[in-house]
Amino acid sequence: MANTLATEQQKTLSESLATARSAKRIRDYQQISLYRDVNPLDWEDWRWQMRNRITKLDQISQVVSLTQAEEDGLKSARGRMAMAVTPYWATLLDPEDPMCPIRRQAIPTADEFKVSPYEMADPCGEDSHSPAPHLVHRYPDRVLLLATESCAMYCRHCTRRRMVGQEEKHDNSVNRWDKAIEYIQSNKKIRDVLISGGDPLTLEDDVLDMLLGRLRAISHLEFLRIGTRVPVTLPQRITEGLVAMLKKHAPIWMSLHFNHPKEITRRTRNACDMLVDAGIPLGSQTVLLKGINDRPSTMRRLMHELLKMRVRPYYIYQCDPARGTQHFRTPVSVGINIMEKMRGHTTGYGVPTYVIDAPGGGGKIPVAPNYILSQAKGKYVLRNYENKVFTYLE
Ligand code: SF4
Repeated sequence: MANTLATEQQKTLSESLATARSAKRIRDYQQISLYRDVNPLDWEDWRWQMRNRITKLDQISQVVSLTQAEEDGLKSARGRMAMAVTPYWATLLDPEDPMCPIRRQAIPTADEFKVSPYEMADPCGEDSHSPAPHLVHRYPDRVLLLATESCAMYCRHCTRRRMVGQEEKHDNSVNRWDKAIEYIQSNKKIRDVLISGGDPLTLEDDVLDMLLGRLRAISHLEFLRIGTRVPVTLPQRITEGLVAMLKKHAPIWMSLHFNHPKEITRRTRNACDMLVDAGIPLGSQTVLLKGINDRPSTMRRLMHELLKMRVRPYYIYQCDPARGTQHFRTPVSVGINIMEKMRGHTTGYGVPTYVIDAPGGGGKIPVAPNYILSQAKGKYVLRNYENKVFTYLE
């Protein structure tokens, strides 16, 4: 027992050291030539951050030493999602290490042009489950409202790459959600709406306020959820004004998207604190990504850091087979092994559910290590996290 405790303490200590080391690698923005003269008030302004996102090769090459694969990925826009990197996210990129987990999520490489035969434009079958524009209705009691096609940053592993990152084609009229809202209004079985996109927190406060207000006016809706990566990629967006507006529409839950411990900074902590203090429960969805978070120790460290800032780990997703993402996908066994190393080995609140979103639109299917060794009438033979065997009699 003493030995186990010592090993656990050692693990926790080395995890904390690793987090402190990554925090040290974050550059002050004025160390980056592009931002040398930027005034701190502009830097803290989310609209300035959005306007000044890095979208071009000659800009990103002032932030990192590009590899040939990155240059090739950036030279051709054909068939790939646009690049957009917030100046804030740019400070987290390792300028010299192309394997930096933050950098790999933001800068396209030539690998995005390789499409395997089983990859799809719409791997979760959202378009075929759409009863109205911007709406996906896959489960009986809840719907997904795709409120916008814009995001603060375009994640290279994005499953909705078929629709995000092409801002010039978007319909930005305020009545673009009319049909979707009419559908929700007329379907009394719907009790929960997940507003996602793109990223709904890229909308202006008044536009989001109007959308939330129209949905909250529907009496059979019990609560709303917002799916967003903005607290991670653009924490400056979490302003007092936004938080006060969201609070007005309670109960609202928020699903964030954290993939690596290096994404957790003083700034993201502050954003999460503001949201939680306003009574908005936070969960995190993490995508399992090859070479980024596919080691149990990295995933465990991420989950611990999330708990420390009151974000409940919710899902780990097997990376969907969206076109051009095979370089990010791991075998399913990697995910099962991560779950094996988490359940029982750390706080239950820190153990998310590992799921595969069934290709074609079957919804999320939980995948887990097998703890039932055999089953007969009235009897289950089970194993625990230490592989000790127990019999449970019904
Ligand atoms: S924020 Fe979400 S929707 Fe936007 S690119 Fe990233 S994963 Fe895709």
